[in-house]
Amino acid sequence: MLINKYLRQLFFKESFELFFSETCLNCHNRVEEPNFFLCYICMSEIPLTHHSFYTDNLLEISFKGRVNLFSGTSLMYFEKGGLVQKILFEIKYNQKPLLASFFGRWLGAQMLESRRFESVDLILPLPLHPEKKRQRGYNQSAYFGRALAETMGKEFRNDLLFRNTNAGSQTKKGRTARMYAIENEYSIKDEHFLINRHVLIADDVITSGATLESACTPFWNVQGIRLSFACIAFTP
Ligand SMILES: [Zn+2]
Repeated sequence: MLINKYLRQLFFKESFELFFSETCLNCHNRVEEPNFFLCYICMSEIPLTHHSFYTDNLLEISFKGRVNLFSGTSLMYFEKGGLVQKILFEIKYNQKPLLASFFGRWLGAQMLESRRFESVDLILPLPLHPEKKRQRGYNQSAYFGRALAETMGKEFRNDLLFRNTNAGSQTKKGRTARMYAIENEYSIKDEHFLINRHVLIADDVITSGATLESACTPFWNVQGIRLSFACIAFTP
């Protein structure tokens, strides 16, 4: 009986090693866990922000006076030329949307632990421009947002926030037209459903914050709305 158990374990171990030979996207050493993409050493080198655990963190401060944010968090700091830039490149341009899901599960676990995001009702991904989505084949923020929602036990909705296709064409038409284009870059569906809801918008990276600011515009007409942000990387 014991021998059978031992042989069974050995068989599973060997078939696991046979089928699982993923290498770390940073150092190319063997990855210890399936779907982790990075080895433990490289994972320990990620500059984590710990934003999930405290209010008035750098991300929340960066939106002060621009967006009336309920709460905001980022998993890591963006660093040019570093590991984080490499990670974001893999997610966006190297067909690795599941890497975004991995970080969604990681950040989701942090957010659950911190209890600062308990009142979130819905998680919405920041939509990509349809043309960009067609070229890439996926929206990385949707992968990230869905993993966040699944980890936190929240509702994920991919059909409420939209990016308008024609807004961008206004950008060369002077200041007023440009302002109009920015304000109308995004639109929402089902306003009534969003009344008194706490919506968390998931995005891959926050740099100037202008995109998220613009994405928030259509929500301000909704009565009792609360907005929060979560992203993989943040540029302080
Ligand atoms: Zn590594």
